[in-house]
Amino acid sequence: MYSVTNPATGELVEEIPNATAEQVEDAIGRVRRAYPGWRDVPVTDRAKIVLRAGELFAERSAELTAVMTLEMGKRVSEGRGEIGVVADIFDYYGTHGPDLLADEPLTIKGGHAVIAKEPIGALLGVMPWNFPCYQVARFVAPNLVLGNTILLKHASICPRSAAAIEDILREAGVPEDVYVNTFASSKQVPGILADPRIQGVSLTGSEQAGVSVAAEAGRNLKRCVLELGGSDPLIVLDTADLDETVRATATARMRNCGQSCNAPKRMIVLDDIYEEYVEKLTARVADHYVPGDPADPATTLPPLASISAADEVAGQVRKAVAQGATLRTGGERVHPGAYLEATVLTDVTPDMDAYYEEIFGPVVLVFRARTEDDAVAIANDSPFGLGASVFGTDPGRMRRVAGRIESGMVYLNRAGGSQADLPFGGIKRSGMGRELGAAGIEEFMNKKSIRL
Ligand code: NDP
Repeated sequence: MYSVTNPATGELVEEIPNATAEQVEDAIGRVRRAYPGWRDVPVTDRAKIVLRAGELFAERSAELTAVMTLEMGKRVSEGRGEIGVVADIFDYYGTHGPDLLADEPLTIKGGHAVIAKEPIGALLGVMPWNFPCYQVARFVAPNLVLGNTILLKHASICPRSAAAIEDILREAGVPEDVYVNTFASSKQVPGILADPRIQGVSLTGSEQAGVSVAAEAGRNLKRCVLELGGSDPLIVLDTADLDETVRATATARMRNCGQSCNAPKRMIVLDDIYEEYVEKLTARVADHYVPGDPADPATTLPPLASISAADEVAGQVRKAVAQGATLRTGGERVHPGAYLEATVLTDVTPDMDAYYEEIFGPVVLVFRARTEDDAVAIANDSPFGLGASVFGTDPGRMRRVAGRIESGMVYLNRAGGSQADLPFGGIKRSGMGRELGAAGIEEFMNKKSIRL
């Protein structure tokens, strides 16, 4: 069942039944049949439609933000920010797509060839609730320009976002069967993937969903991009302004109520500033992040996306404390609604579950590192490898540390976030493949060798 439940109040607003087997079958048929026609549309025309979609997202920012606030508790300013990035993504691929897809000439032994950049067919997208519009945009914008067609299964708690996205793409000029939203259940995903009419899948979500989708993709020899969880380290080597570092790191962690895959979740602080950092961070988190209505622009701490998510994160915090971690502030559920106090934990050790798990909520873990080597070792002692941050005053030292971190992305003196022209993705259990930038249009591309 798809449903809209306001996480600020727990009120059930709407329920939508899952798609029937016949509806899913029909949707697969539509995107497959639409493929040859869309592939043959000149790339400049596809790019124009994608550019127009970007404009429409920007124009409808307030409306989309209101939907996200209702469905998953997004704060108004963060909703506006998300739609701004979405518009940028459509603009980036609409503007640069035709150049990125130009033939690549090759001089080879005995002659010449070109690599033609072609689509592969109908794709499945499985998307999460934390950034309902941005996650879809990263997958859809490059693939529409490339010429693939798309069947989209969104998270079951944001059907209205899913419908609004389909509506915007339609209005921008994407033909009806080139992008199709389906309210399929996650149980129907393996069947869709096994269908020979579908050529690949992109999933953003949990590790468990990633394992299931990757296994099914492997069994059926389908291309697969996975953007899964993360427990990104943020190393503080030294600082010229501790207050500013504390503010920046807390802001990055608390963005989207802590529900960002690439938020810094583990602050790793060098010994000489550790105590002062923890003290200031605890004060900042306790004072600044106050639970409130996400629709009120003054609110600093919205609810999590669902009551079950809030209960789960609160449970992770309780367990960490029971296993010996120190609770510096927060940790309590605030009722009614899906609220959890902003939380700081220290003294988390490898024998505790919280050390290796992703905590997808407003919870900061702080670790003490004796040396730079120690900081790198703690950073890499994680099953995940999505992003990482290094804060410091010496660019050479920060760059050196960046090179030693096992992750797909590193940010220097900044944390988290995402932009249209910078490739995004992870290693280890954070997934495989890249989205955004030039790399993001290549994942479902047929780089066809044509011998001249
Ligand atoms: P899920 O991974 O369950 O949901 C993401 C999407 O995957 C949804 O569309 C969901 O459908 C679908 N899905 C779930 N299970 C399967 C499956 N076995 N096969 C195919 N599709 C599936 O995320 P949750 O909502 O359960 O969140 C749990 C955790 O996932 C978070 O705590 C966080 O760690 C991680 N996560 C990471 C995100 C990221 O940005 N990388 C985003 C969201 C979550 P349906 O909604 O119908 O179940």
